[in-house]
Amino acid sequence: MNMMSGIYKNIIIIGANSAGLAAANQARRIDAGLDIKVFEKGNYISYGSCSLSYYISGIIERIDSLLNYPPQYFMEKRNIQVFTRQRVNSVNTFKKEIIVNTDYAGGFTDEKFSTVYNYDRLVICSGASPVLFNIEGIHSKNVFFFRSVEDAINIRSFIEKNSPEHAVITGGGYIGLLAAEALAHKGLKLSIVELKDSIFSDYEPEISGIMQSAVTGAGVNLITGSRLSRINANSNGICYSATVENLRQNHGENLEIDAGIVIMAAGIKPNTSFLKGSSVELDSRGAIKVSHKQQASHPNIFAAGDCCLVKNIVTKSYDYFPTAGNAIKSGRVAGANAAGEDDIYAGSAGTQVEKIFGYEFARTGISLKEANEYMFNPIKVSGQFSSHVGVFSPSEKISIVIIVDKNSRKLLGAQMAGKAGVGKRIDVFATAITAEMTVDDLYMTDTSYAPYISTVPDAVNAICGKAVLLLKK
Ligand SMILES: Cc1cc2nc3c(=O)[nH]c(=O)nc-3n(C[C@H](O)[C@H](O)[C@H](O)COP(=O)(O)OP(=O)(O)OC[C@H]3O[C@@H](n4cnc5c(N)ncnc54)[C@H](O)[C@@H]3O)c2cc1C
Repeated sequence: MNMMSGIYKNIIIIGANSAGLAAANQARRIDAGLDIKVFEKGNYISYGSCSLSYYISGIIERIDSLLNYPPQYFMEKRNIQVFTRQRVNSVNTFKKEIIVNTDYAGGFTDEKFSTVYNYDRLVICSGASPVLFNIEGIHSKNVFFFRSVEDAINIRSFIEKNSPEHAVITGGGYIGLLAAEALAHKGLKLSIVELKDSIFSDYEPEISGIMQSAVTGAGVNLITGSRLSRINANSNGICYSATVENLRQNHGENLEIDAGIVIMAAGIKPNTSFLKGSSVELDSRGAIKVSHKQQASHPNIFAAGDCCLVKNIVTKSYDYFPTAGNAIKSGRVAGANAAGEDDIYAGSAGTQVEKIFGYEFARTGISLKEANEYMFNPIKVSGQFSSHVGVFSPSEKISIVIIVDKNSRKLLGAQMAGKAGVGKRIDVFATAITAEMTVDDLYMTDTSYAPYISTVPDAVNAICGKAVLLLKK
């Protein structure tokens, strides 16, 4: 660690979760003399968003178990000042200052009581928020979003106090499904309303079909090709049903379903409204445009995590991949560079894994549709393989789809679903994509074998072997 402070004396970071705290820690590792301040609008910092659904279900009993470090930890151990309930309202890139308002329990202060802080370098790690919908009844007391610690506390508390029987969840992506699984665990009957014709519509049909069967097999009423058009509430502002419009019908056929609680999980958008009027460039969805050094369009401003774009390592274009891994890695690079380093973040393959309703599903790289859009010459190869040799303990079937470029023979994408063995293998595919390996390389990669753990050859080698044969034809 450099004990002499460099030319940048003070760094301000907006947001104190995955990306923001990764940036703060990395900046401190680079320069012990920096003044580092982190502003967080919420009450909580360093929380495990990815485990919030297990708090709702009760599998994790206490919310404290998800709070990794309190603000004092950062002050005492790292000399980083973390301020909670402090919302950054605007950024003035010319004066190099931010305007901050405080939440004194019960709401943020009026803008005239704002405080101004100057920065040498600013790191924006403000994350994302659920997309808001302007439909009737959306402000009912039992309609919740699912993103923050507060959301998880409010959802569980409402269920435990009011024992609703039916829940309606909008959005059949992984956040909606994590909420669905948590509520099913609490004994609620569930309906999921999904706009597209299938849940997990960004997966190949071979994989989204498996997830669809897993969800309906768990007793969930899945309503696809439809949208939530109204939430019906009583005079106390408590909703009791939801109206769903079937978009497959020409004029939309309305369906009314019971809803003692509604969870809105139909997408997220970057938290960047406080940058309005600044010179920081955003894309059409509001994500901050950054370079491979996490530098925004302004030289003293860096960004990381769910508030910004990231380079897609397959297509080389800039994409939006809101994952924890991306947030932490891009946060470290942003923090280091804000402190004066010259680090590069190579980018992301958009790798994801989740376990929902007993099934693991995962993806990395691009889909067939994306491969065609980006003018590759792709083929899709799919197959079912065993998780391990089933002699000693029952094995599970793993469905794998890979996308391969016929010209270069490089692996472009992989997706998988199954009850076991998915997580280990998707990381092999992610590594192969990062290293730009061909299917021939991965077919012959020396994967491990033991009967309890894998097959020989492993499913990863086997699907690539299938691709190699197809490419010979
Ligand atoms: C329920 C759930 C489950 C998930 N599961 C997974 C998973 O299994 N795997 C995975 O890879 N990813 C998962 N994710 C996504 C992952 O949590 C995010 O990608 C990651 O947290 C992004 O980190 P971030 O720091 O960029 O943003 P955030 O975590 O959103 O943090 C941003 C912080 O900035 C604060 N902030 C915003 N605006 C301001 C402002 N104006 N002033 C001050 N502070 C501000 C916010 O309050 C927030 O605390 C999950 C997310 C959710 C919600």
